[in-house]
Amino acid sequence: PPGIFWLTRDFRFQDNPALAAAIRQGPLLALFFLDRQLMAQGAASRWRLERALKAFDAELRRRTQGQGVLILKGEPDKLLPDLLRETGAREVHQSDWPAPEMRRMQIQVQDALKPLNAALILHPGHLLTHPANIRTGQGGTYRVFTPFARALRAFGPDRPVPPAPQRISPFANPPSGVAIKDIDLAHDMKRGNSVLTRYALPSGETAALDRLEDFLDHAAGYADQRDRPDLDATSGLSEHLAVGEISPRTVWAIASGRIRERPETSDAIAKFLSELIWREFAWHLLIDFPPMAKVPWRDEWASFPWRGPNPDFAQWSRADTGVALVDAGLREMRVTGRMHNRVRMVVASYLTKHFLTDWRLGLAHFQDSLTDWDPAANAMNWQWVAGCGPDASPFFRIFNPEKQAKQFDPHGHYRHRWLAGWTGEPAPEALAYFATLPSGWSVSRNWRERSDLQHGRSRALDAYHRFRGDG
Ligand code: FAD
Repeated sequence: PPGIFWLTRDFRFQDNPALAAAIRQGPLLALFFLDRQLMAQGAASRWRLERALKAFDAELRRRTQGQGVLILKGEPDKLLPDLLRETGAREVHQSDWPAPEMRRMQIQVQDALKPLNAALILHPGHLLTHPANIRTGQGGTYRVFTPFARALRAFGPDRPVPPAPQRISPFANPPSGVAIKDIDLAHDMKRGNSVLTRYALPSGETAALDRLEDFLDHAAGYADQRDRPDLDATSGLSEHLAVGEISPRTVWAIASGRIRERPETSDAIAKFLSELIWREFAWHLLIDFPPMAKVPWRDEWASFPWRGPNPDFAQWSRADTGVALVDAGLREMRVTGRMHNRVRMVVASYLTKHFLTDWRLGLAHFQDSLTDWDPAANAMNWQWVAGCGPDASPFFRIFNPEKQAKQFDPHGHYRHRWLAGWTGEPAPEALAYFATLPSGWSVSRNWRERSDLQHGRSRALDAYHRFRGDG
C-alpha cells in the first residue's frame, strides 16, 4: 500500500515530517482536496495557494519521474475511506495546520476512518514548537507577548527534521483526479487576478529559501528600517510561511546560524526572529481560543458600539477614503495582495477608530485580499489594533495617519507609488489599481485629500469613554 500524504498548507520537501513519514511507509501518494473549507478561504489566499500547489507538483514530478499530486474534488471525510479501501493504505499523514475549520475536518476524518481500522496521523511542522511546551507558571497559555517570547527562547524551537530524500518512489497506480492544469482556485476573484499575477513574487520552496538567504544578506538595516513602507527592508517571507513553502523552524535554524557567523548582524536578525515569535504567539492564542476571528478575546468588548457595514466602510474597502497613507496601503493590497505591516496597522486603526467600524469587517476584507492570509496572525492583529485582544494596543491610542506618513514615508515615495494623482506622474502600480476595480465602482483617477481626522478621532474617544462609563 502507498504512504498517503495529505497536503494542506505545507508545500515543501524540507522539514516536512508528514511527508517524511508517508515516504517511510511506502510508495508515495500525495493528495490534495478541493473541498468546501478551501473554497471558503479568501480569494487572494487561494490564488497564492494554487501557485504553491503547482510549484510543489512540478517538483514532485521531477523527483518521481513524472508523478504529481493527486487532486480530488470533494470532502476529505467522504473521499478518504474509498481511497483507503482501493489502495489498502491504513494511515493518512498530515501536517497539523491548527485552524478551527481544519480541526473540525480532522475530527470528521478520524470518525470516518475508524470503521476501516485506519487513522489520520498528525505531524508537527507549522509551528516552532507545540503550545504544550510553552506554558505559564500556572500551566496556561501566555496572554502577553514579552513573557511568551522569553519562554519560547528559553525552551528553544524544535529542531527541523532532516531534508526529504531526493528520490521518492511514487505509488504505481493512483486513482485519477483533477488535472493540475484545470484547477483555477480563484475563479471567483472580484478583481483582475491577472494584475495580481503581474505583481507576484516568485513562489515555491526554492524561492522561499532564496528569499530568506537574500534577506539575511541585507538584514543589517532591518531593526531600523522595518517600519518604512517606502523601503524594501523586511523579509517578504509571510506568504511563503502562510502556505508552508518554508517552515518556521527552518527559518529559525538558518537565521540563527547567520547570527553565529556574522555577529554584527545579530541585533537585526534577533529582531526578525522576534517577529517570527509574534506569528507563533498568534497561533498559540488561536489554538487556545479558536473563535479568535469571530469574537473579542476580552469579553467586555462584546458590547462595544462598533458600526456594522456603512458608507465609510465601503469607501475604505474601495481604497478611496481620501487619507493618503490609508488609500495607498489599501491600493497596494488590491494590486499585489500584500501590504506593509506599518500600513496594515494604520489602515486597521483608521477603520476601527476614525470610522468606528467593526474590526471583523476589516478582518474579512483582509482575509479576502491578502496573499499571506493567516487565520491566526490576521485575527490577533485585528484584535490588537481594535483594542479588544490579549496584550492589545489600548483603544485610546489612535494612530494619526498623517503623522504616521510623515514619520515612516518621509519622502512620500510609498504614497506616490500607489496613489495616481497624489503628486506628479502616476506610477504604473498606481494605475494598475484601476484595472482591479469591478464594474460599477466609481473611483476618481484624481485622488483628492478629503478627510476630517479630528471628527473621527473625537467620535472614537467619545464612544470609548461612554463604553467605559466615564464619559
Ligand atoms: P517581516 O518583518 O520580515 O517578519 C518576518 C515574519 O514574522 C513574517 O513573515 C511573519 O510570519 C511574522 N510576523 C511579522 N509581523 C507579525 C505580526 N504583527 N503578527 C504575526 N506575525 C508577524 N501576517 C500574516 O502573515 N498574515 C496575515 O493575515 C496578517 N494579517 C495582519 C493584519 C493586521 C491588521 C496587521 C496589523 C498585521 C497582519 N499581519 C499578518 C502581520 C504582518 O503585517 C505581516 O506578517 C508582515 O507584514 C509580513 O511581511 P514580512 O514577511 O516582510 O515581515
